[in-house]
Parts: sequence; structure tokens; C-alpha cells
Amino acid sequence: MTEQRPGGTDTWVGSLPMKVTLLGTGSPLPDPLRAGPATLVQAGGLHLLFDCGRGALMRLAAAGVAGPQALSAQLLTHLHSDHTTDLNDVITTRWIMSLVPAPLPLVGPVGTQRFVERTMEMLSDDVSYRIAHHEDLTVGPQVEVTEIADGPVDLDALAAAGVTIVAAPTDHRPVAPTVGYRIEHDGSSVVIAGDTVPCDGLDRLVTGADVYVQTVIRDDVIGQIPLQRLQDVCDYHSTVTQAAQTAARSGVGTLVMTHMVPAPPPGGEQEWIDLAAQHFDGTILAPQDLATIEV
Ligand SMILES: [Zn+2]
Ligand SMILES: [Zn+2]
Repeated sequence: MTEQRPGGTDTWVGSLPMKVTLLGTGSPLPDPLRAGPATLVQAGGLHLLFDCGRGALMRLAAAGVAGPQALSAQLLTHLHSDHTTDLNDVITTRWIMSLVPAPLPLVGPVGTQRFVERTMEMLSDDVSYRIAHHEDLTVGPQVEVTEIADGPVDLDALAAAGVTIVAAPTDHRPVAPTVGYRIEHDGSSVVIAGDTVPCDGLDRLVTGADVYVQTVIRDDVIGQIPLQRLQDVCDYHSTVTQAAQTAARSGVGTLVMTHMVPAPPPGGEQEWIDLAAQHFDGTILAPQDLATIEV
């Protein structure tokens, strides 16, 4: 397993079964160095994008994937705005960068179909402008939604590439339903947990995983800030301690902390790693945007 930072052009030669790129390690709070939540998993020749927060396509280009037309699938853990704000960009830019119709496979929790229908309504003026202007564009963007609650994700591209993805329910209430994903290829496994507190579904996903990517908060820091709206985030995210305990309990190899709130300043990540290390003796990473992990 290797980690590089920052990422940059895609020189990956695929010596290991999977590559994880932290495209965006930020949160809803705008940050000049951290894009919104988005993680790229490359396996079996597939490019799988998990969530698509602020700046996702800029970071995707920096990771060496030229555009969303190259994505094999977009997957969403939940429909919170910080995880979906650039879905409209993925849909529109894939459409206009594809010279032949290229329906976007989109997987998400129950409610995703409705979310996409409303997104398409939002985009309808722009779609009409582009169809009027480009003679070769005769139909609008197409999105093929698969809603998943628990169990294997059924996509043709996955089976052909020897990649499996299993979803399980997570607990981010009152945001519900929400899901996490476990991706497996050639004996390696990666879990994209999304926003969740520890729960049975999460434990099922991460058991024995090589890499466990968890969004985390520092309740000890937030607890000192007298602002109720900030305090509210503590009860539906994993703390660093909880993420480390989940990793230890489930026998994972590497814990990757992302979506860190409040984001550590450059160089401040070690404090987060030290905190997690009190509960988990595996590898712990608190990466910046475009860090990569091969597994
Ligand atoms: Zn959320
Ligand atoms: Zn979030």
C-alpha cells in the first residue's frame, strides 16, 4: 500500500488491484485547500466516483480522469447537499463531453430517483439552450438510477470488470435512508462509509476491509465552540474515536479519515492521527485532497 500527496497526473500502472483517490476531503464549510466530499475508486479498469461535493470535477481532472464521460458510475452515500452539490455538473458535463449518448449509471439510497428528477427539472432550461445550439445534440442528458438499501449493487460494468460493490444501511439520522459501500476486486476491499455514526450496517461493511474511509468530526474541539448549529453536527457523524474503534473492532487494515470538521490546518493532521491511534493500531491516514492509496 502506498500513499502519495498531492496526486496529480494519473501515472498509476495498476500494480495493485485498487486505487483510492481522496478527491475532496472537505465538508460543507468552504475551504481553500479542501474540495467537498468525493472519493474516486479505480478497479478493474473502472472509474467509480463516490459522492460529488464541491469541486469534484476539478479534482477528478487533477487525478487524471479527463471528465465525467469517463466515469463508470456515480454512487451517492446520501443526499446531503455537501455530498451532492456537483451532481448537476457531473450530469451536464458528461452529457456535453460525450459525442454519443452516454447514460450515467447512478447508484444511491432510496430517494435518489426523485432527487435526480428534480435536478433534471432544474437543468431543463440549460438543456434546451444546448439542444437548440448544437445540431448533433438531439436528446438531453440521461441518468439511469439504481436505488439501493442493502446488498449487492447490480451494474453491468461491475460484473464485466470483476468488481463487486455491496451496500449496507448506515445511521445519519435524521438524514435517511443513507448507505455505505464496500468495493472488492481481486482480493482487495475498500469501504466508503459516508456520514454515519457506528451501527450494525457499518460494522458489516468494514469487517476485515483493507481500507476504511470514514468521514469524521472532532467532538472535543466542536464541544468548545458555543454555537448550537455546530454542536448539532456531533450527534450524527462518527468522531475520530468512534471511527478508530470501528476500525479496531472490525479488523481493518487502514483507517482513512476525511471530511474532517473542523478541518485541521496544514500540518495539523498528526493530532487527529494520534487521537485515533489511542484506539486503533493499524495504519491511520488523514489525507489532503488528491492523496492516493493503492490496495
Ligand atoms: Zn451528511
Ligand atoms: Zn457530510
